Amino acid sequence: MNTPTLVPSILIIYTGGTIGMMENPETGALENFDWEQLRHHVPELKRFGYRIDTQSFDPPIDSSNMTPCDWQKIVHIIEDHYEQYDGFVVLHGTDTMAYTASALSFMLENLSKPVVFTGSQLPIGQLRTDGKENLLTAIEIAAARDEKGRPIVPEVCLFFENKLMRGNRTTKINAEGFNAFRSYNFPPLATAGIHIRYERQLIRRPDPARPFKPHYLVDTNVLILTLFPGIRRDFVEHVVRVKGLKGLILKTYGAGNAPQEPWLVDQLKALRKQGVILVNITQCSLGTVEMRRYGTGLQLLEAGVINGYDSTLESMVTKLMVLLGHGYSTDEVERLMNASVAGEITTDELATGIPAIH
Ligand code: ASP
Repeated sequence: MNTPTLVPSILIIYTGGTIGMMENPETGALENFDWEQLRHHVPELKRFGYRIDTQSFDPPIDSSNMTPCDWQKIVHIIEDHYEQYDGFVVLHGTDTMAYTASALSFMLENLSKPVVFTGSQLPIGQLRTDGKENLLTAIEIAAARDEKGRPIVPEVCLFFENKLMRGNRTTKINAEGFNAFRSYNFPPLATAGIHIRYERQLIRRPDPARPFKPHYLVDTNVLILTLFPGIRRDFVEHVVRVKGLKGLILKTYGAGNAPQEPWLVDQLKALRKQGVILVNITQCSLGTVEMRRYGTGLQLLEAGVINGYDSTLESMVTKLMVLLGHGYSTDEVERLMNASVAGEITTDELATGIPAIH
């Protein structure tokens, strides 16, 4: 870990999204902001006294257009500037922010500096914007250090409307209000009021014996199957027979339950036999999968489906992509899917520490 500079240095990475837009006074249309003019539009930045630099995607993108290539681009920027800055703030559209934050939590292994995602529901140039508040607090969090001079939050996290959440625990839940994100199964890492109150016991720390290790390999041969009453056998069979499928996430009911249809269980067993990783997550926002609780869950466990515990969809799909990207054996992917790699699931074995991805 390198020693922090006296004046904190923060790199803002603008990828796109509402936060970076301004109303064109002539046409009234929302247009992307010139990041060279950031200090002009957010004069409050000067009051921090930090060194703040910006890097912008060219062109900036609506986050609905984000792909794993863009995740790699962000990882690249962070890797290239890792030694020069104390923390990173990633400005991102809200639509897929939880996916990108989740992906980066797996791609930036043993991170020792804060990477804080934020965005806004109203453009930074609008009168009632939530963007300034989110940006300024995200910068303060990215620069915050403890008594020993170490970053307080060396995690990929997401700040929105007063709450700092672990990135891979978040979901966008609101297309209208300012409180756009929730972390249902894990408490906030910090709450911003008059003071920023950090929950230090919840914040992950890097392993000092291992270096920071960025990962770039991502395999997109995955699919999500949401169960619903009346789901058709022919449709399911058609979809899961797609060539190249390596990972299937089942969004099941309640504590991880599915209809007791022999065709469904047989199909899952056949996929498992072909080496497809099958993961069970629940359609409920709150709570966890417990496949032994009901017969409707046990049949999945017996078919070789693995437990996704209390994971968000965003975190499960990106974790699967990153693990598959490493070309591991099925057993190894299953082992890591069942362990907490970046604090993304609550398992009984959490105390075992951080498994390395390699
Ligand atoms: N569609 C926009 C995006 O995700 C919405 C936003 O920025 O909040 O890029």
